[in-house]
Amino acid sequence: MMSNHEIPKDHPRYVSLTIRDAIISGMHQKVVAEAGLIAHGRGEAFDYLLGEKTPDFAIKQEEYAVLSILNAEKPIISVNGNVAALCPEDTVNFGKILNAPLEINLFYRSPEREQAIKKKLIDAGADQILGLDPEYQETIPEISHLRRIVDSRGIAASDCVFVPLEDGDRTQALRRMNKSVVTVDLNPLSRTSLTANVSVTNNIIRAIPEMITIAEEFTQLSKDQLIEKLKKYNNENLLKNALKFMSERLMALSSSDKLII
Ligand code: ATP
Ligand code: MG
Repeated sequence: MMSNHEIPKDHPRYVSLTIRDAIISGMHQKVVAEAGLIAHGRGEAFDYLLGEKTPDFAIKQEEYAVLSILNAEKPIISVNGNVAALCPEDTVNFGKILNAPLEINLFYRSPEREQAIKKKLIDAGADQILGLDPEYQETIPEISHLRRIVDSRGIAASDCVFVPLEDGDRTQALRRMNKSVVTVDLNPLSRTSLTANVSVTNNIIRAIPEMITIAEEFTQLSKDQLIEKLKKYNNENLLKNALKFMSERLMALSSSDKLII
């Protein structure tokens, strides 16, 4: 739950502070790891460069992401502490619309965190959560001990993993396992953004609700229409558009009379 009672609604950074509050309470509830706070700050810095709203190129990335998940045989959504703290209901709804189960997959794994995240997702309406039953745990090769556990019914068996806010090594490991990887990551230069098949350069807080709207439209398409539409997108070009958007915005600001954003 967010405890945003101290933040006045007319504060110029109300949305950002409310989100920050969700991350901090998430840490107190053991949902978010300490390093999750640092990752959040890194994301916020890139969100300033976007102007804290969704640009047109990001909508295209979101369409590409939804199409790729819809086109998969066995998609899965990998959830970590930050995702569970920031947008549990939207993540659960997105999974339901796309018919993709949720798997808890943590960089910093502990039974206490696993249970706290599970509770957060169940409270948000999730029916089944993969990743925690030792009977179904498998390991990803080449990754150190606890970080490599995956569910044999989930990530291990999937052809497409939606893994927002993920670390670069694990993204690379998933690619080596021939998974199609779809991510949301505000940093277009992170190893995750550069390695994933589809990278959405946007704040997850805005991206998932927008992807839900897109999914509601695209679930009406036939398989052939999906495949035809998919041909129109190119991840590298879209990432270049993200870099261009950020740099052009900075250039425009740096030459404007008044530095007001
Ligand atoms: P990489 O390992 O991919 O090179 P990194 O080590 O800098 O990246 P990680 O902590 O491994 O970062 O991954 C978390 C990523 O999530 C970061 O790139 C960060 O910018 C991004 N991020 C954090 N908060 C958000 C958010 N709310 N929405 C979208 N992206 C976010
Ligand atoms: Mg990393």
